[in-house]
Formats: sequence, structure tokens, C-alpha cells
Amino acid sequence: MGTPSVAIVVQKFGGTSVATAVKIQAAARRAIDHHERGHQVIVVVSAMGHSTDELIDLARQITPRPPARELDMLLSTGEQVSVALLAMAIASQGVPSISFTGSQIGIVTDSFHTKARIRNISTDRMKAALDDGRIVIVAGFQGVDANYNITTLGRGGSDTTAVALAAVICADACEIFTDVDGVYTTDPRLVPEARKLDTISYDEMLEMASLGAGVMHSRSIEFAKKYHVPIHVRHASKPDVGTWIVDELAARRLGAVVTGAALAKEEARITVRGLPDRPGVVHGLFRELAERHVVVDMIVQNVAKDGLAEVTFTVDEDDLESSLSIVNKAAEAQGAASVQSDREVAKVSVVGSGMKTHSGVAVRMFESLAAAGVNIQMITTSEIKISVLVDRSQGVEALRAVHEAFELEIIPCDLRFSEDPPEIAVSLVQKNQEPVSTETAIADAAPGMEDLVISDVELDASQARITLLNVPDKPGQAALVFRAIADSGINVDMIVQGISEPPLGGEAHTLLSFSIPSRDVSRAVEALTQLLGPNSVAVDPNIAKLSVMGVGIRSHTGVATRMFAALASADINISMINSSEVRINVATDAALGEIGLNALKQAFDI
Ligand code: ASP
Ligand code: MG
Repeated sequence: MGTPSVAIVVQKFGGTSVATAVKIQAAARRAIDHHERGHQVIVVVSAMGHSTDELIDLARQITPRPPARELDMLLSTGEQVSVALLAMAIASQGVPSISFTGSQIGIVTDSFHTKARIRNISTDRMKAALDDGRIVIVAGFQGVDANYNITTLGRGGSDTTAVALAAVICADACEIFTDVDGVYTTDPRLVPEARKLDTISYDEMLEMASLGAGVMHSRSIEFAKKYHVPIHVRHASKPDVGTWIVDELAARRLGAVVTGAALAKEEARITVRGLPDRPGVVHGLFRELAERHVVVDMIVQNVAKDGLAEVTFTVDEDDLESSLSIVNKAAEAQGAASVQSDREVAKVSVVGSGMKTHSGVAVRMFESLAAAGVNIQMITTSEIKISVLVDRSQGVEALRAVHEAFELEIIPCDLRFSEDPPEIAVSLVQKNQEPVSTETAIADAAPGMEDLVISDVELDASQARITLLNVPDKPGQAALVFRAIADSGINVDMIVQGISEPPLGGEAHTLLSFSIPSRDVSRAVEALTQLLGPNSVAVDPNIAKLSVMGVGIRSHTGVATRMFAALASADINISMINSSEVRINVATDAALGEIGLNALKQAFDI
């Protein structure tokens, strides 16, 4: 370990922040500034401006399908230009510096060209240069595989390089310099009232990042969470403090119940109807998608009706065609009645580590959508997020309604009069954080630093399931239901609403299920019967909720499939599913909870 009093800082400059010679000089001054204060500085840079796009374009002019290895060889040159220029700029101001490519600094990756994952990083050369008093400049986005082939980490991968270096060198902070002021409560281009956040937790950022609030590469956040790297996202040409992305504890002390809202418009929905309600069916449906590395996002399965279940999930719009051909075959093999899809959807979510239960948050969200005349097609929740699927034409409107309902533009009052300087956030982080020593980081890293980590499987046997059988498919219904539940003082955990049944002559209806503590069942039934009339509520007083959680669930395909496979081979039927970036939950028969838990422990080696 180095001398404890010297801070180590990793600074990353994105493409826009090194787009011109003038901006490179400014970046150099930022690095020198830290260096002059006695800190050790590592700078990671992206390719200048749009040069990666231009290189890709150039390759396509040669051939429409360039070999991936050669594409990596080409793309890595973009960052090589920036590191050299930045090193010159720093040297010209009289400060010793040295630039390295990914391979020179020892960033070893797997061999998946154009989307390689980091396996390990050697710190010797970096440390030697730092101890020599130099500013170390590293090319982002690139590495080298075991056979000395140059690889790249996927578009936006410089973020991941920066966070990974910060992890192995045990840096005090990783500063991400970009062209925005920080992370906002939502996309300010869509909602002008959006407010910059002071802090956000890794999980919140993960839920937001893949929801279209794309300030940073999701993989880099997964990395930061795994190795407890405090990240500071800030504007490259302003001195202002930006947003700290930190561990939950540190973020919570300064946070509100709902931290942000996000809109995802690039997803399409696939619904499989009339599935036989027996073990193994869901697994059969998703196995092939996982094998083909299709990333499945929002998975919702509601309880079976008349012995037939229905599963809806979303995929990237670009993957719709290929997914449909896989799903059509799988659905047929499982004996499903039909497969249907819809591109004209958008997902609106609210995210916040403060929402321990969903009662108040759900009502507020659903009521704001109702008031805006937005129909909710589908609902799914995670521990820190509620997502709804709506018609794409109403996406922005829905986002604005929700942002307004949670008053996200207003600084929460416990923060407003805070005298704490922003530096407090940093010292908080450091106190709560167990330092990752270089040695552990590397030992943990075998076989790969970016591998999926399933940290826990969990059984909750204290809940009951309430299902409303005939909820009319029109705005305002979910709001009514959860208003009644919240007014009865009952906490709601999992909420699942599938896509509506096609109208059979009459009004379209949906099936809405949610879980509540078993002890509250009779009160809930009473309130709902009053609201919806007799025979409208079905109850399972005891369910088992099984969850798998970890880091990498979003970016690695196949976690859900492994979970479904394990339950299928234990002959356990799944009645409800919902999924998020950080965990997947299913509900099963209460009597099978323990068996299910053991099956999952075995499947995930826990
Ligand atoms: N230059 C690469 C890209 O444009 C990596 C990065 O900017 O993070 O995707
Ligand atoms: Mg970038």
C-alpha cells in the first residue's frame, strides 16, 4: 500500500471533452491541478470527438462486414491519438507524464472482439510511474487478450476502463468529466424542470442508466458497485461539483424516497398467451433467447387464469424480429395459444432506494398517470423501482406527469438547508466503504473482474398474493386500487400487471396482482370488495417469494433462464415473475419455498 496521506484520483475525459486541442489543454490543466495538490493522478481518455464513429464509417466504406479483430485494431487508434496529445499537453506545462495503451498498461480482456470484458489488470507499471511523480495517461475502451490481440470493450467503454483502474489501484475517487453537469432526476431534454442530483446510489444509477438516462455505461456502474469505487460525474469545463455515485448508505443519507424518473422508448413488447401452467414452461420459453444472447428486460408473468398463464417481456426494439422468430418456435413447443408483439410502447419508471415499500409511491405514480389520461398497459416493480408500460405516443407526457407528481424538480427539504459542503459526501463514502486493496481486487478478479456475480438468493415466506381478476383496461384503475390499499395502511411489495386480454366483444380487462404481508389479507380483501364488488378478488394467503440478486444481471444474459431452469428441475411452478437490473423475483407455492431456495442456492453456487 502507498503512503496513506496521498490521495489517488482517476480522471476520465469523454470524447467531447477532448474534441479539440484547446479542450485537451483544459483537460491537462485539470489533471495538473490535482497533481499540484500532491495527489497521484491517472487520466483515462476517449477518442477525440466523433472519431470512433468516423473510424467505423471508414471501415464500412471498405467492407460492410469488417472482421471484428481488425475493427478493434482500427478503433483502438482513436484513443491512442488522445493519450499522446494529452501527454504532450501536460509535458508542455512542465509536469512529467507518460501515456500508455490498454495493452501496455496490462488490461487483459477475454477475446470477444468489439465487446470484450476485462479479466484482470496489472498495476506494476502504473504504480511505478505514479511513484516516479508522473501523471499516468491511459487509453480508454481497449485491452489485449491472452494472445496479444487488441480488443475493445464496446461503445462507451472508456467509463469502464476508468472505473476498473480506480478499483485495482484503490483510488479515492473516479472523476468522470463529461459535457453535462451531472446525473439528473430525468432527461432534461424531455423535462426542462429536471434537477441535478448531488448523490445517487449504484443501484439507482443502474436502474436509471439502462432506462435511457444514459450518462454512463451500465457496465462501469456494475463495476463500481462491485468494487466500491466512488464516482463523481461532473462537467469538463466548469469547476462545479457534479453528482456522486456511491454506496447505498452514503447516498441514502442525502436522498429522498424517489430519486429519479426515466423513459425508455427503444423497447418492444412480446406477449405469449395461453401457456400451460406447469413447471418448466417459462424456462422453455426463455432458454433459446438466452443462448442467443438476447437481452430481455421487463419480464412479467401473472397468475394463471383457467389453467393458462401469460408471459410478457420487453426486448430492445432492434432485437424484436429475431426474438419473435425464436419465441414463436419456443411458444409452439410449449403448447402456447398465441404470440403477439407491439413496438409502440414506452417504459416509464420511478427509481429510489428510499421506497422500502411501494404503497405511497405506487399510488402517487398511478394517480398522476390517471390524471394525465395515460393508460397503464403493464406494471412491474423491483425493490427500488416501479415501471409501467404505456403507449409510446404518451411516453414523454407520462414522464412529465410522474416527474411533477414526485416534485423531483424541488430539492428535498432535508437537503435544502444543509450547510454541509459537497465534500461531506466524499468523506461519508470513505467511511462507509471497505477499501478494496489491490491484492484482493486482483485475487477476486480470477477468472474475470467483470464476471457476473450472484450475491444472494432469498426466500420471503411472509407474504400473500392478491389478484384482481377483471380490472377494466382504461386509465385510473390501478390508481383506485392502490389508493384503497394505501388508505388501509397496507404495504405492497411486488406488483405485476400483465398486458390486457384482447376484447372478447366487451370491454378489455387486465389481471392485476400484488403481494402484501399475510397478516393484512382480510383487511385488503374488505377494502377491495368494497371498491370492486364481490367475486372480484382472489387471494393466496401464503406465497413464497424467491429472489436472485447480484451485480451484472442486466448486462449478462441468462440469469433469469438459469433461475427458471433450477425451479423447473425442482418441479416448482412459477405463478408470478418480475425482474429488474439488480434482481429477479418469482412467486411460487408457499409449501415449496424451501425446496426452491435450495435449488437456487445450488444453481448459483451459493
Ligand atoms: N471511443 C469509444 C466510443 O466512442 C469509447 C468511449 O468513448 O467511451 O464508444
Ligand atoms: Mg463516451
